Amino acid sequence: MGAAESRIAQRLLACLMLCAANAGYGFNLSEPSTGIFVHSGRQLALDAPGHDDIANIGFIVGRKCVAVIDSGGSMRIGRALRGAVMQHTALPVCYVINTHVHVDHVLGNAAFKGDRPSFVGHAALSQAMARSREFFVTQYGGDLDSPPSADQIIAPDRTVESEVTLDLGGRQLALRAWPTAHSDCDLTIFDAQTGTLWTGDLLFLERLPAVDGSVKGWLKALDELAHMRVKLAVPGHGPITHDLAASLATERGYLQALTAGTRDELSQGKSPQEAIERVAVAQKPHWLLWDSVHPHNVMRAIQELEWE
Ligand SMILES: [Zn+2]
Repeated sequence: MGAAESRIAQRLLACLMLCAANAGYGFNLSEPSTGIFVHSGRQLALDAPGHDDIANIGFIVGRKCVAVIDSGGSMRIGRALRGAVMQHTALPVCYVINTHVHVDHVLGNAAFKGDRPSFVGHAALSQAMARSREFFVTQYGGDLDSPPSADQIIAPDRTVESEVTLDLGGRQLALRAWPTAHSDCDLTIFDAQTGTLWTGDLLFLERLPAVDGSVKGWLKALDELAHMRVKLAVPGHGPITHDLAASLATERGYLQALTAGTRDELSQGKSPQEAIERVAVAQKPHWLLWDSVHPHNVMRAIQELEWE
C-alpha cells in the first residue's frame, strides 16, 4: 500500500470508528442550514436514564474556526459532539459558548479543554456555575469523568454583558445576554449568514418550559425575541423551527396562563398544592413532562408573584 492509500485507509478507519461511536450513542446530527449543525436532545426528564442527552446542542463552522454551542449533559455527550465536529471539519474549535448554566447544557465543556477554545457565556454565568458546581458534582457525578471533580465544570473565560460579536472567519455570530428570564444567565446566538437564532432555553417546544429565573422576565424576553428577523430558530429543547413567532406564541400561552393562574390562586389565598392542581391546567395537553416540571414552575411563580 502506498503512502497516499495508507492515508486514505487511516481516514476511513477513523471515520468508521467515529461513526460507530456515534451510532452507539445514538448521536443524531443534522445540518438545517449551511454550516449550522444541530444535535437534537431527547424529551426525557432530568432524572431519567439518558438525561444527559436532553438539550439541543451543536456547532457552527466558519472559514477560520468552529463555535460549539452548548456541550450536553455529560462528558460522554461532549465527546460525541466533539467527534461530530471532527467528522465535519478539520478547523479548530475556537469557542465553546454556553447558553446558560443548566446541567444539560454545560457538563460536556471539559471534553473540549484540549482544543484550548475560549469558553464564552453570560456575565452572570461564572457566578451561577460557582453556585452550582458542588451540586453538579454530587448529583451528576456519574455524568463526569471518574472521579467526578469540580474542575471539570468549566466556567467562561470570556463573558457577555450585553452584546458581543464573535468572528469565525467570514461568519459573524452576534451574542446577546438577557436579563433574568428562563435563568439568570440566558444568552442567545444569532448567525447573520443564515438568519439562524440559537435561543438556548428561552424557547422550549413540546417539552414544558422550566422556570428557574423569572416568569415576568421571560414574558418580556419573548416580546423582544418576537421582533427579531429570524429564518431558523434552534430552541433549547424541541424541534428546530422556521416559524419563531408561532413557537414563541405557544410558549407564551403557557407562561401567561402560569402567571395569571398563580395570581388568581394567591388572591384567593389558596395553598401551593391547590395552585399546582388548578393553575394553567388547560395547557396540560399541549406539553410533555407536565408532572415533573409544572409543580416546580408554580412554586417559582408563587415566590415571584406573592409580594407584588
Ligand atoms: Zn435550562
